[in-house]
Amino acid sequence: MKITIFGSGYVGLVTGACFAEVGNDVLCVDIDRKKIDALNEGHIPIYEPGLEEIVVENSRAGRLKFTSDIREGVEFGLYQFIAVGTPPDEDGSADLRHVLSVAESIGTYMQEYRIVINKSTVPVGTADLVREKISSVLAERSSGVDFDVVSNPEFLKEGDAVNDFMKPERIIVGVDDPRTKELLRFLYSPFNRSHERFIAMDIRSAELTKYAANAMLATKISFMNEIANIAERVGADVEAVRRGIGSDSRIGFSFIYPGVGYGGSCFPKDVQALERTAHKYGYHSRILQAVEAVNEDQKSTIVRKIRLHFGEEIGGRVFALWGLSFKPNTDDMRAAPSRRVIEELLQAGASVRVYDPVAMHEAERIYGDREGIYYAANPEDAVKGSDALVVLTEWLVFRSPDFEMVKRDLKTPVVFDGRNIYNPEFMEISGFTYYSVGRPPRG
Ligand code: NAD
Repeated sequence: MKITIFGSGYVGLVTGACFAEVGNDVLCVDIDRKKIDALNEGHIPIYEPGLEEIVVENSRAGRLKFTSDIREGVEFGLYQFIAVGTPPDEDGSADLRHVLSVAESIGTYMQEYRIVINKSTVPVGTADLVREKISSVLAERSSGVDFDVVSNPEFLKEGDAVNDFMKPERIIVGVDDPRTKELLRFLYSPFNRSHERFIAMDIRSAELTKYAANAMLATKISFMNEIANIAERVGADVEAVRRGIGSDSRIGFSFIYPGVGYGGSCFPKDVQALERTAHKYGYHSRILQAVEAVNEDQKSTIVRKIRLHFGEEIGGRVFALWGLSFKPNTDDMRAAPSRRVIEELLQAGASVRVYDPVAMHEAERIYGDREGIYYAANPEDAVKGSDALVVLTEWLVFRSPDFEMVKRDLKTPVVFDGRNIYNPEFMEISGFTYYSVGRPPRG
């Protein structure tokens, strides 16, 4: 099958590489020429486990190509995927500029039947807007070429994206036309072999499914952070509570880890966008607003604890930060809690020695040579001469560090653990003052 993918970011590149991996001919189109040049030279612009191998292999085999020529993209594939960004607008609703710009290009250059598949996360009703945009451009051209619009939201997780795409838990397709539905089923058949994962529905329900899924996950996180905040005040241990409630099969263990709040390019913007959609249709979503408010507050809890320990005046102090990406196994720092922590510490006149296993280049891109930031070469380097260690991302490499080294190299043996990855008793016995989330401080 010939497939065009507009947008070569986390979703577009993974989608393109995985479709090529199962034998399709894929053309990835992006307006960012630098990105396309890099991809054509075999450089992968993002960190995603397993992605580089399949991009390189399928490019070499000639099944995966990259271009910034939009017209070439429209002419290439029967299947035209839209996988461009949908960032938040000023009021939090999804900005559809990029999606509609692709729709306009498709309308402009289309010469024969095309299936336009929207993979970007977009509000309910966007498929109609895409259809209207293409129709109006075709009308201007006095062209009667036929096309169909499908909603196919993506559920991959950064950090495990290739695996998620190759072995999806579900393939959601919102489609009106029965023939197009079968074409989509055929396209996805290589990823749908062991059992039925293809769930077809109407377009609006598919669009809402994506937001509902992300909002549900964000709700679980904010709920657990709220319980952690209550636990801190009543003298309970949220980790005991987590185990206690997770063992109820109706609740389960996933996504109930307390921490420093959720981040990334999806949860914050999708919760906001769904709340805005509800508002637009006259519904006031109290749960979504609370989920967001709890999360915003949670990102500041660790600096509050730092102030509680060192006193309000933390200017001149130095903090080692371990973990910058919003979660492990990705270099993505969009809306990461680390950004709030860095900002608050710098604002207070403190400085930071930051380290992340893969997001250092992203941090340097964001902060450049801003005063107060030192880019450490490794975890040990970050700790050297710092007043305290602050853990913000639960990368595996931080789970079992050389605590003797940490104690020796810190000015004072204080650890703020934003992900509850250490055992409080062990930390106390090892001579640390230890703060975590939803558990009493130790030492
Ligand atoms: P991204 O920012 O990494 O990539 C988007 C790409 O689209 C950029 O490279 C940009 O240059 C390109 N682009 C913009 N306008 C274009 C145009 N007119 N033609 C061609 N290319 C264009 O974004 P992403 O993280 O891949 O997310 C894309 C969409 O998928 C968003 O709606 C997002 O919410 C959704 N999504 C993301 C994830 C995730 O984990 N990142 C998961 C599921 C869904």
